Amino acid sequence: MHPTPLLLLVALVIGSSASPAEEADDLLAKAEAAGAAGRYGKADSLYRKIVEEAPGTEAARIAEERLAPNAWLRTVDLEINGDSDNRIDIFVLGDGYTREPKFQKLFDQGARETLKYFEQAPVFRRYRKFMNFHAMNIASHEDGVDARGKDHDTALGAYESGASQGQVAVRHQDVARWLRLDPRAEGYAICLVRLGTLGTGGGGIAVIGGVPSNTVIHEWGHAFANLLDEYTSDVGYTGPAPRGINVSNTDDPELAPWKHWLDARQKGVGMFPGAAGRSKGAWRATATGCAMNRGPSYCLVCREAVTASIWEQVNPIDEATPHEDPLFVEPDEELVIELRPMEVVGSPSLKVGVTIEEIQGSFEAAGAVDDALGSFLDGGTGADAWDAFGGGDTGADAWAGGGLDGGEWVSWSRPSRAGKKADPPLEGRTVRFEKRRDDERRTVYRVKLRARELDPGNHLLHARVVDPTDWVLKPEWKALLSERRTWKIVVK
Ligand SMILES: [Zn+2]
Repeated sequence: MHPTPLLLLVALVIGSSASPAEEADDLLAKAEAAGAAGRYGKADSLYRKIVEEAPGTEAARIAEERLAPNAWLRTVDLEINGDSDNRIDIFVLGDGYTREPKFQKLFDQGARETLKYFEQAPVFRRYRKFMNFHAMNIASHEDGVDARGKDHDTALGAYESGASQGQVAVRHQDVARWLRLDPRAEGYAICLVRLGTLGTGGGGIAVIGGVPSNTVIHEWGHAFANLLDEYTSDVGYTGPAPRGINVSNTDDPELAPWKHWLDARQKGVGMFPGAAGRSKGAWRATATGCAMNRGPSYCLVCREAVTASIWEQVNPIDEATPHEDPLFVEPDEELVIELRPMEVVGSPSLKVGVTIEEIQGSFEAAGAVDDALGSFLDGGTGADAWDAFGGGDTGADAWAGGGLDGGEWVSWSRPSRAGKKADPPLEGRTVRFEKRRDDERRTVYRVKLRARELDPGNHLLHARVVDPTDWVLKPEWKALLSERRTWKIVVK
């Protein structure tokens, strides 16, 4: 029997409502939602449906990947402290956790526990809001650590490293492959290997055997800040002692990597024999207590390196508006500039200073006067004591021809981390700004400039944010602790 024309028309209308590719995309979204909720079995049956019903589509290609023996299941945000652009995004990954829900639940538990160990170190407590944590559930085909000819098909290819205690390691290229699935990833991962022993760390990747423990902070020190072991007993190393941030291969204090702490006569810092898994031929900076030995937290040499590594990744100025540059202002207009610094937990909080300069001639002829602002903030005069900052109008034009090196503009998207320059004389005018909490309880600094308070012509407004912590002493690292933002303002 032939369909009547009316029925045929209805069939056509229904049939044209979504293309096979669109239907497959729909199913893929459903499968991913099921996976995100931890319903991996349901997700798998939807992935299989896509492969069967929409072969050749992009959705089918993705679905096939998700059905592979080692496969991504979902990514869960464990703790989000801000926009990934200016945060350190750390992913917890599992190896040897098979598809069965009970194993994935074990991984979920381990991932959450991993975060607790970050609370153990004051440096991660202070800079907690600089980090985002994510957990990536990955199904491993098998469970086991490769060793002595035995090979297991797992997501991260875990294997026993050559060290004497069989410390577990993973294949970095496998970690990179999973991290590529998330645009927020920047190479930092903590890998939990279910059947692994002890741990290893380096190149942004920490590996923890079994369940999380004190090892997390130790391996993360290797992975994140290039710290070396401070073990004084043998852990399987051979050959000459290495030299690094926290290990010296000579007892000469002049050649110590932490000489700056010795010069500062820091209490408790010296040349202590035993480090890098050796009792002889290697020295460490403190007697006991460092997490790179067996302590719960970092010694002050290691803490300095971790702090510097954090500041290497994060801009002290989290957000600054407006984005336009230069800003053109009519004589009767008011200009509002807002700045959100990064926020640390506890004290001292970051210092903020703002100054404005009047430019004779073009902007390009102007110099780096805001360095004066930097020295003001470094001088410890108090974060919000902006009104103590000169106060008077010292004559803005004077510095323009003062021979300071000019033309170094700092843009918001590509902050300059160049070393600090010599302090030029302070020639600026301070600007009143208000400090308040926004709707999200973040501290925001707001400058309101009325154009009629300024002379017509070109001006520079500098904002500078500095971390006044005394945890960092080394000059080239200290330079990472401050950032400035400059707006060019043209008053008509
Ligand atoms: Zn240490």
